[in-house]
Amino acid sequence: MKPTYYSELVSTSLDGKLISDTFCEEILSSSEVELLPLLDAAYQIRKTYFQNTVQLHILNNAQNGKCPEDCFYCVQAKSATTDIDTYSLKPMSEILAEAKRAYQSGAYRYCIVMSGRGPTPKRVAQLANLIEAVKSKYPIEVCLSVGLIDEPAARTLKAAGLDRLNHNLNTSESHYPMICSTHTYQDRMDTLIAAQAAGLACCSGVIVGMGEENADLIRVAKELRKLEVASIPVNFFLPIDGTQLKETSSLTPDYCLRVLCLFRLVNPSAEIRVAAGREHHLRGMEVMSLYPANSMFIDGYLNAMGKESARTLQMIEDAGFTIETNGDISELSPQPQVEKGKVLLKELEVLRPRME
Ligand code: SF4
Repeated sequence: MKPTYYSELVSTSLDGKLISDTFCEEILSSSEVELLPLLDAAYQIRKTYFQNTVQLHILNNAQNGKCPEDCFYCVQAKSATTDIDTYSLKPMSEILAEAKRAYQSGAYRYCIVMSGRGPTPKRVAQLANLIEAVKSKYPIEVCLSVGLIDEPAARTLKAAGLDRLNHNLNTSESHYPMICSTHTYQDRMDTLIAAQAAGLACCSGVIVGMGEENADLIRVAKELRKLEVASIPVNFFLPIDGTQLKETSSLTPDYCLRVLCLFRLVNPSAEIRVAAGREHHLRGMEVMSLYPANSMFIDGYLNAMGKESARTLQMIEDAGFTIETNGDISELSPQPQVEKGKVLLKELEVLRPRME
């Protein structure tokens, strides 16, 4: 495409106008839309709203497994046969200790995630106490993911100091029955609407690669824009043995980057997070995700391991981005993998693996 194509994308997005479905489809699938100028277009938007900063998030899997829901992609679902360690809500002391660690690791936001369809009123009260305790001890933003909630529950959590509620739409309304049978897309929408009515900022995103069409992703990107969500995690599906959903599409780094650009162009001022699956699906192109996205997880995901934090921090620094943190930035300095000027030499078993 000519340079004017990309500059039109930038000006449409910055002017607050919606990118047409035709443009969106081209971004995702046309070989005439080249990746580098597309990334540059997305970067211009990202830079306008977030400069070169990166927000780091750390997840706390506060309650794992035993979920009565059957989300086909999830190892915690009742239908999953994956061998995971299950536990009920961690005690307050454990969550506080982990909050301290997240704060000291420079995380901008601490995300407490619980399995389950949604909390009982008693559990909401417990969570409110927990949020109050974390917020009074550490200057860190707290985000909570607890399944479906109604407006009174959202008001209780807001009053306790909760900054954000996470509830992902995951995919489009028409594709939703292909990924879950125990709740609907509308149930998820209702939770986001209840949270917003209670004055909570919302975080809601997608999982890419669950057999959906480009049109499904475009629809969700535009739905999230309509909802004016503050934050959009873009996950790339990681098939795990024992879950119902098998690998249905082979994601390439090129496609994943296009999806991130699409979400940035459609939601210019939202925090776009390159989330689960970044290491696996972006592979050697991982660093390029920082041009459309301004946020990422460190320390892994809910049940899946991620890259070592030190390597992620090094990648951010090497690419010229800076970490936005309320913590002590000096504690964030990436540890060099090898002493400067010192190269690790291969051991004999690496040099001669077949030696008798
Ligand atoms: S509700 Fe959450 S924890 Fe339960 S199966 Fe669905 S994604 Fe997994």
